[in-house]
Amino acid sequence: MHRETDLYRQMSALQAKNFNTCFFCGCIATEYDFIPPLKYAEFYLKTREEADFYKVPACRECCYFLREDNSALLEQRVTVAKGSLARKYKRAIRIYEVWNPEEIEDLAYQLKHSVNAGMRLGKESCQRVAFSGFDFEADGVKHRAHFVKNVVFLVFGEKFASFRDALDYASKAYRIPKAKLLELFTEHNNCFDTAINSFHEKFTRKNLDKKLKAACASFALQHQQNIKFVMRTVEKYCTQDDNLTFEMALNKLYQEVIKK
Ligand SMILES: [Zn+2]
Repeated sequence: MHRETDLYRQMSALQAKNFNTCFFCGCIATEYDFIPPLKYAEFYLKTREEADFYKVPACRECCYFLREDNSALLEQRVTVAKGSLARKYKRAIRIYEVWNPEEIEDLAYQLKHSVNAGMRLGKESCQRVAFSGFDFEADGVKHRAHFVKNVVFLVFGEKFASFRDALDYASKAYRIPKAKLLELFTEHNNCFDTAINSFHEKFTRKNLDKKLKAACASFALQHQQNIKFVMRTVEKYCTQDDNLTFEMALNKLYQEVIKK
């Protein structure tokens, strides 16, 4: 029988700056991740299922994230590690994405301190999630595939490499508070365009409602009617006929009910 660890090909970074670096997140590597996990080595050998058999430099935290995962391919394990990282630091990442440094300056001391700590942790976490691995050699073969997709965020055709930059731009360009925009972005299938459109639609709708209320109130006063009655009737007319504006509905109410 062979020693299990002999089956694995050691992954070595091609460039010096990546020596002792965790392939998954870019932190200092203190241990190795075995792909597939050691306890499944025999299984993959026997079944001949596809497995990389890499010994990958990794940090303690990424090893911890991967301890229960039994996938046998580097690409799958990169996805698992990144997913766990993003989940664990979700709150800090959110703070980093949403807060502007100028806004933090205005906070009370205690809060400023904790938001700043969140910003630092969030920034570091974002960088770890975005870390794209490195070129490496294993068993004399060079590999340049990193399995981290270059994500691009679009805001009406404008391209951004990070979510934070896209959010910042969209918030300023379309005058929507970041926290609100973030909420709408999630609600609308992670799409900035529909999030922005829905915000402005809602805004127009609110304005319209205000105008409608004002028009009904002045109509009620002028014709000595109950305002609730006027609003109810206008709404009824408008649902019966989509083409009716509320001015037309008020006129109809006047012609059909009050004039008589
Ligand atoms: Zn790591």
